[in-house]
Amino acid sequence: MSCPRIEVDLDKIRRNTETVVRRLDARGIGVTGVTKAVCGHPAIAQSMLDGGALGLADARISNVQRLRQAGITCPVTLIRTPMLSQADAVVGFCEASYNTDIVVIAALASAAIRKDKVHGIILMVEMGDQREGILPENVAKIAQQVMTMQGVALKGIGANFACLSGIAPTASQMASLCDLANEVEGVCGPFLKTVSGGNSANLPWALGERTTGRINDLRLGEAILLGVDPISGDQIGGMHTDAFTLVAEVIETGVKPAPFPIAMIDPALARLRIVPTSGVSMRVILAMGHQDTDISGLSMPVGSALIGATSDHLVIGVNRCTLKTGSELRFQMNYTALMHAMAAPDIDVKLLFDLPAKQPRHIQGKSEHLMLV
Ligand SMILES: *Cc1c(COP(=O)(O)O)cnc(C)c1O
Repeated sequence: MSCPRIEVDLDKIRRNTETVVRRLDARGIGVTGVTKAVCGHPAIAQSMLDGGALGLADARISNVQRLRQAGITCPVTLIRTPMLSQADAVVGFCEASYNTDIVVIAALASAAIRKDKVHGIILMVEMGDQREGILPENVAKIAQQVMTMQGVALKGIGANFACLSGIAPTASQMASLCDLANEVEGVCGPFLKTVSGGNSANLPWALGERTTGRINDLRLGEAILLGVDPISGDQIGGMHTDAFTLVAEVIETGVKPAPFPIAMIDPALARLRIVPTSGVSMRVILAMGHQDTDISGLSMPVGSALIGATSDHLVIGVNRCTLKTGSELRFQMNYTALMHAMAAPDIDVKLLFDLPAKQPRHIQGKSEHLMLV
C-alpha cells in the first residue's frame, strides 16, 4: 500500500457526527459539518451528512467545488468571508456565505442577479476572537442594508471563537449573540433562520447547564473529525479520536554515532530538527517530513520519541528496534497535522468502510440536506 498515507475510518466519522448531533439536538442546535481540514473530501463530507449534519461548510471555494463535483447537493455555506474576486463562484457553488463587508455582499448580490439566484447572507459578528467580524453595534445597520438589496437574503447571524485568540466563548457572550439576533429582527423584521454560535470550541458551553437560547447552529470540524475539544485537546466523551491515522514507511534504521554539530542548526528550526537523545539508542528514519504534515502535531507511537524532522525525513528514536526498512509506522494527528497532511500532494487518502458509490446511503439527518441547489 502506498506510503505515506492517511487511513480514514469513515464509520467513526459518521458515529462521531451522530453523537454530537444527538446531544445538540436535545438543546435545539443543529450541526453544520466543516470540511476545510479535509480539503472538502467528498466521502468524509458524506459521512458527516450520513451522521445527521444538516449541511456542510468550508472556508475555501476550491473545496466546495470538489464537493459539488462529487455530486454532493446539500446546502454548503462558505465560512470564510468571500474574496471579492470570487463572488461569482461563491454564488455558483454555495447557498450562503458568512460576510463582514457590505462591498462583498453587494458583489454577491450582483452575481446572484446575473445567475438568477438568491444567495443567503449570514453576518459574522466580532465577539472577541479579533479575527473577522462586524462590531456588534454595526450589525443592525448592515442587516438593514442587506435587506434593501436584491439577489441576497439575510439568513442569520453568527459568531466565531477561539480561532485566533484560543479563548472559549462564555455564556454571557452567547446570550449577547441571542440579544443581537432579537435586535436585528426588531430593526429589520424578518425572522433570522440561523443563529450560529461558533465552532467546536462552543461544545462545552452548548452541552453545559445553561440554556442555549436562540443559538440553533454550530459549525463543527475538529470535534467530529478528531473527537477532541480544540481548547483543551481532551477527548469528548463517547467520541472516537482515531478516525484518522497517518502511516509512514521506514527507510533506514540504525545507531548514529554523534549528534549533528550544534553550529549547523538553524535556530528557528532547532526545536524540530534536534532534541536531546537521552534514553533512546536506535534511530528510525521515515520517508515523511515537514512538506507532508505538521510534525509537531504528531503523537509518537509508544516506545518512541521524536528526534527531529527535515522537509522530507522524520527521525525518531526507539529503545528496542523491531522495525526494519520497509516497515510501516502509524501516527495520530492533531488538527493542524491533519489539515496539512490532507493537503499534501504525496499523501494518499485510503478510506476504510466506504460504501460503494451506487449503494443508497442510510440518511439519518432531516431531509433538508437533500435539497437541490
Ligand atoms: C474553521 C472554522 C469552523 C470550524 O472550526 P472547528 O474548530 O474545526 O470546529 C467554524 N467556523 C469558522 C468561521 C471557521 O473558520
